Amino acid sequence: MSERTLAIIKPDAVKKNAIGDIMGRYETSGLTPVAIRMMQFSKSTAEGFYAVHKARPFFDSLCTFMSSGPVVVVVLQGNNAIKKHRELMGATDPAKADAGTIRKAHGANIEFNAVHGSDSPETAQFEIAYFFPAMEIVG
Ligand code: ADP
Ligand code: MG
Repeated sequence: MSERTLAIIKPDAVKKNAIGDIMGRYETSGLTPVAIRMMQFSKSTAEGFYAVHKARPFFDSLCTFMSSGPVVVVVLQGNNAIKKHRELMGATDPAKADAGTIRKAHGANIEFNAVHGSDSPETAQFEIAYFFPAMEIVG
């Protein structure tokens, strides 16, 4: 079933010049970009995006990190895009991520882990709409 997911190439990965590598992995895995936006989050943009994690001890640090530099926000479309993208990303903690995953290649630790990916159809819908009006998504 074709579906959409939201990916974010986080500030650490942008600083490492890993945009091309990560986008290349999406394209060679059958995940088609249908919207792309480069931007720098304000702290409150990050807080709104991660509102689900508000009660977590790492929330403030996470939002500071996510607003620390430019990110690339991407809508990916393809069969089982949400699960496929999570598999490409690897585990949240890069030390536990499988070989060959994005987080294994580019993540430094459980916070600075290179990429974000939606975890369910409901979060994908919220996250995509958070950044893209429908008319800015192609395909
Ligand atoms: P994922 O990004 O794999 O879906 P979560 O939704 O649990 O992981 O967490 C969101 C983000 O918060 C993570 O990608 C990571 O940047 C950060 N994070 C998660 N757990 C921790 C932690 N224990 N300490 C610091 N940062 C964390
Ligand atoms: Mg998550």
